[in-house]
Amino acid sequence: MVAGATLRALELLSASTELRDRLEKNTRRFRSAMTAAGFEIRPGVHPIVPIMFSAFTPDDAPLAQRFARALLEEGIYVKGFFFPVVPRGLSRIRVQLSAAHTEAHIDRAVAAFTKVGKALGVLKVPAGSDAGYDMPVAVIHGARPGPVLAVAAGAHGSEYASVLAVERLIDAVNPAEVSGTLLLLPLINVPSFETITPHVNPTDNKNMNRFYPGDPNGTQTDRASFVITKEVIDRCDHLIDLHGGDLDENLRPYSYWTVTGNQKQDERSRAMVLAFGLDHIIVSTDRPKDPNASRYLENTATTRGKPSFTAEAGRSGPVNEADVTVLVNGVLNVMGHLKMTARPVTPVKNPIWIDPIDPGG
Ligand SMILES: [Zn+2]
Repeated sequence: MVAGATLRALELLSASTELRDRLEKNTRRFRSAMTAAGFEIRPGVHPIVPIMFSAFTPDDAPLAQRFARALLEEGIYVKGFFFPVVPRGLSRIRVQLSAAHTEAHIDRAVAAFTKVGKALGVLKVPAGSDAGYDMPVAVIHGARPGPVLAVAAGAHGSEYASVLAVERLIDAVNPAEVSGTLLLLPLINVPSFETITPHVNPTDNKNMNRFYPGDPNGTQTDRASFVITKEVIDRCDHLIDLHGGDLDENLRPYSYWTVTGNQKQDERSRAMVLAFGLDHIIVSTDRPKDPNASRYLENTATTRGKPSFTAEAGRSGPVNEADVTVLVNGVLNVMGHLKMTARPVTPVKNPIWIDPIDPGG
C-alpha cells in the first residue's frame, strides 16, 4: 500500500515538474515574442502577462478595450482591465498562459496581437447625393514616440504598383523598430480599382487627386477627400502620396517636389524627396497656396505646413516588381531620414530637377 502510494506521488511529482517546465517555456516564448513585436509588458516571469497601453496614448482605456474586443474577433480570449477598474495610464490586457498551450497557440496569439496592433480598418466615406464606401486604412503605432507619417496610394485605382507598395508596407513594417506612427492608405479610389477605371472615380467622374480639401456635402470624390483631410492630413506631420502610372501611361519613376516659398518647410520636403531615392524630380512651383483650395492630396498637407511630396513608379497595368520595390524602399528611406527607424539613408547625390510642363500627379 505504502509503496503504491509513494509511486503514485512520484508520478504526480514528475508530471507536475513537466507541466511547470512547459508553463515556464510558454511564458518565456510569449513574453519575448511580444516584446520583439513592440508591446510593453510588465517585466517578470509570471504566466499571467499584463500588456500595457500607456506608451501608445495617454488615454489608454479605449485603446485597451478596442484591443481586447478585436483579439476576441481573432479567436484569442484575453481579459482587458481599464478605467475605472484600474487607474488611467494603467490599462492592460491580461494574458493567462497555461502548460496546455502549444508553441503554435502562442505564436498564433502573438500574430493576433501584431495584426490588431496594426489596426487594419476602414475610413468611412458616408453616403450623400451618391453612395458611400469604405476606404481601407492601416495604422501602425511604433514602440516609441515620433512623427506621424501618412502614406497614401490608389487615388487612381488602376495604378497598381503604388497600391501594392502600400499593401507591402503594411506587412513589412515592424512596430518594434518604429518611432512614431504610420498611417497607411493603400487604396483611396476603391470604385476605380473595382471597375478598372483609369484617372477618375467612376461614381462621379472626378479625378481623386484634384478635389481637396474636399466637401462633406459634395459628390463621392468630394466627401472622400474631406474624410482624408480630416482623418489623415490633420493627424499627420508628413505625407507621401504614391502613384503608379495609369493604364494609358508609360512613365519612368520620378518624384514631385512642391516649392511653397517657406524656406524652412521647403528644405525639409526637399530632404525627404532626396532621401526617397528617385533621381528625377519635377519641381512644382505653381500649386495652389490656399489650404482651402489645395486641389492635390500632397498639396493639402503642404499648404497646412506639413513637409510632404508625391512619388510615382509603375506603368500601364502590369506590375513590375522593380517599381513596387522602388516605392517601398523609398518610404522606408524617408522613415530612416525622419529618424522613425535606424535605417541608414543615402540621399540622391545628383538629382535631375525638372520644370513641369503639366503639373500632374
Ligand atoms: Zn496617379
